[in-house]
Amino acid sequence: MKHLFDLSGKVAIVTGGNSGIGLGMATGLAAAGATVVIAGRNSEKNAAAAAQIQDVGGQASWLDVDVQQEASCQAMVSRAAHRHGRVDILLNNAGINIRKPPQDYTLAEWNQVLQTNLTSAFCCSQAVYPEFKKQGAGKIINTGSMMSIFGASFATPYAASKGGLVQMTRAMACAWAADNIQVNAILPGWIDTALTRQARIDVPGLHERVLDRTPAKRWGVPDDFAGVAVFLAGAASDFLTGTAIPVDGGYSVQG
Ligand code: NDP
Repeated sequence: MKHLFDLSGKVAIVTGGNSGIGLGMATGLAAAGATVVIAGRNSEKNAAAAAQIQDVGGQASWLDVDVQQEASCQAMVSRAAHRHGRVDILLNNAGINIRKPPQDYTLAEWNQVLQTNLTSAFCCSQAVYPEFKKQGAGKIINTGSMMSIFGASFATPYAASKGGLVQMTRAMACAWAADNIQVNAILPGWIDTALTRQARIDVPGLHERVLDRTPAKRWGVPDDFAGVAVFLAGAASDFLTGTAIPVDGGYSVQG
């Protein structure tokens, strides 16, 4: 029997791993034995996140990446592979939101959100595929959203990007299953991070609505994502692909 949740010897890249949900998942992967590569735009945040993981005994390094740039995604994968000898796990987690009514977006804003949240995951997945193919195995975990399922008046490009991410997950899962590459998505509910702290300023009454609507009666926290990341990154999920798993305290099943 394989060690279902043991990631020793595995190398994981986490885009947007320097804060929030990404850091929660990176911390979980490191605790399960993986070497984690934190990848974000902000070097100081990247270094601090890697140090935080090292401080509790995990193995971590960091790289600067701007996932809006295809060349930067490719460089991230090749630098991580060169530094650590392999890449086994890719978490496409970097994301942004711009909150407005649909009629007020510029095309540049639409493109920025789609590029950061969706096109980036395509580019990073394409970049890592040769590594996975060479090794005969690989895991991709994409961070979707409740907006992969629901709409919201203030999140048109965000919802389009996160809905698209789930369909991209399914299509890549079909394409790469025979290569022993599993591609899955997680759909976070409302999680207390920098992203939603801004949302609570931008959208009056959001905090109360989330508490009221979430059966668990609390906001999620980054640590809530450690376990699902380990599950989807390890042997426990070797026959699971193309899924989109809500991690939301019951938000998406509340009638
Ligand atoms: P954070 O703002 O804490 O994290 C966002 C991360 O994305 C940061 O690490 C940031 O790093 C990185 N990032 C943004 N743009 C780029 C870029 N162009 N290139 C590289 N990295 C980038 O928010 P969350 O943890 O909440 O968000 C993480 C993911 O979870 C996102 O995809 C978000 O859409 C999703 N999500 C969050 C929910 C929530 O309730 N919080 C709910 C549903 C989904 P840096 O600043 O260094 O660039």
